[in-house]
Amino acid sequence: MSYDEVEIEDMTWNEKLQAYTYPCPCGDLFQITKEELRAGEEIARCPSCSLYITVVYDPEDFQDEAPPEPEQEAGGRPADPALAEIEVH
Ligand SMILES: [Zn+2]
Repeated sequence: MSYDEVEIEDMTWNEKLQAYTYPCPCGDLFQITKEELRAGEEIARCPSCSLYITVVYDPEDFQDEAPPEPEQEAGGRPADPALAEIEVH
């Protein structure tokens, strides 16, 4: 069972761990990385004990920052092999 539910806003970004952290009652820190959040993970675990918390966040905030790639414009029409067959007179 989850020890607690914590809003992502209430967690602390830890530059050293490269993870969002929240104090665990055992004295260590619950941790969850941006990669995990991006993957839809919502459980932050404590490395020192068996407790974990459920992180409340909006997955859209952690989607890739890169803009979507523009659709490749097709250069001309693709050759239709069926039409090439009708060259007989
Ligand atoms: Zn702990």
